[in-house]
Amino acid sequence: MKKTIENIDVKDKRVLLRVDFNVPINDDGKITDETRILKEIPTIKYLLQHGAKLIICSHLGRPNGEPNQKLSLLPVAKRLLTILPLTKVKFAFDCIGKKTEQMSQELKSGEILLLENLRFHKEEEKNDPIFAKKLANLADIYVNDAFGTSHRNHASISGVARLLPNAMGFLMGKEVNTILDVIENPNHPFVVILGGSKVADKIYVVMNLLKKADIILIGGGMSYTFLKAQGYEIGNSMIEEDKVELAKEMLIEAEKRGVKIQLPIDHKCGNTFSSNVKAKITRNVNIPDGYIGMDIGPKTMSLFSKIIKSAQTVIWNGPMGVFEFDDFSEGTERIAKAVASIKGKQIVGGGDSIASIKLLGLDNKIYHISTGGGASLKLLEGEMLPGVEVIEDIEE
Ligand code: AMP
Repeated sequence: MKKTIENIDVKDKRVLLRVDFNVPINDDGKITDETRILKEIPTIKYLLQHGAKLIICSHLGRPNGEPNQKLSLLPVAKRLLTILPLTKVKFAFDCIGKKTEQMSQELKSGEILLLENLRFHKEEEKNDPIFAKKLANLADIYVNDAFGTSHRNHASISGVARLLPNAMGFLMGKEVNTILDVIENPNHPFVVILGGSKVADKIYVVMNLLKKADIILIGGGMSYTFLKAQGYEIGNSMIEEDKVELAKEMLIEAEKRGVKIQLPIDHKCGNTFSSNVKAKITRNVNIPDGYIGMDIGPKTMSLFSKIIKSAQTVIWNGPMGVFEFDDFSEGTERIAKAVASIKGKQIVGGGDSIASIKLLGLDNKIYHISTGGGASLKLLEGEMLPGVEVIEDIEE
């Protein structure tokens, strides 16, 4: 497990907190969605209450290494002032330099200094060591809470972390330690459910979790490539021809390891890819010519639900079908309900799976909703992200 802010002493220390304040701002300088700022407030409050002199840094948009007033973080500083009315919030018009260093030295415990957009310097994305050193000079401790950016080798993510004692904020800490813990110490049966359209996006997750899971359920668009690999008819369903061989290898590897990869045994199909097409249920695993598989069928729904309900640990990422079309949303909903019903630990990731859980009002039944997108998938692939790797381990 990796250190979080609860494992370090920040009293009277200058703490450089890397956050994700990449929020949409309109032409009038108004923030149109402040979710990311609000989510960061618990970490900010904790650090302030524990006596930190808080220096916050973030990227915003893609300024391509040059100052761009439209992508300034000044509106965020103004918003922080209203969210935290009792806290002094200062703004540095450059994230590095003499003036900013002086401001960091004059900062008092319980005050915030927000730095201007890191990406106004091209050195940030190049992980330039001199730029990282300049950032490190502003602080005594580094805290990363920008999990969604932690798969990038940028100066404010990995470069500066190597130069200072460090830890993770609450958002990143929960995401990283929950995923690492569930992967390392799952309670069995451990069931992994993968869906969505692209085999390429999730094949490495399959590869890594084959070493840990008992059963892997595959539904959604990606299942047809696996079915094709097993020699079944898939009609006009989506297929990644160049991944059929890899899918075959994966099925062989699973068998060797004694892990079951369970594919759909029936389907809901349509003869065109449209929202008003009438759903036809196949009699078995084969899809007739001229039909497109668009959801798992009723027998699969029951089989998958039964397997999920027997699990102690579940990881779910990706819908079971084209859930945006009413007639093809049932598979994803049935899986969402089964996942939410288990007593063990569930991790749900991927925009569509999270959306269906929320739509059904089941989010409070889920152990961890993982919002880290690509970064979470990398962790599930067993890859240590540059921004996670550099964080100090908790001493046992
Ligand atoms: P992903 O971004 O890879 O998780 O894929 C999510 C998308 O996959 C959703 O927009 C679904 O509509 C789509 N999808 C799931 N199943 C199918 C399918 N059988 N055919 C076509 N698209 C699908």
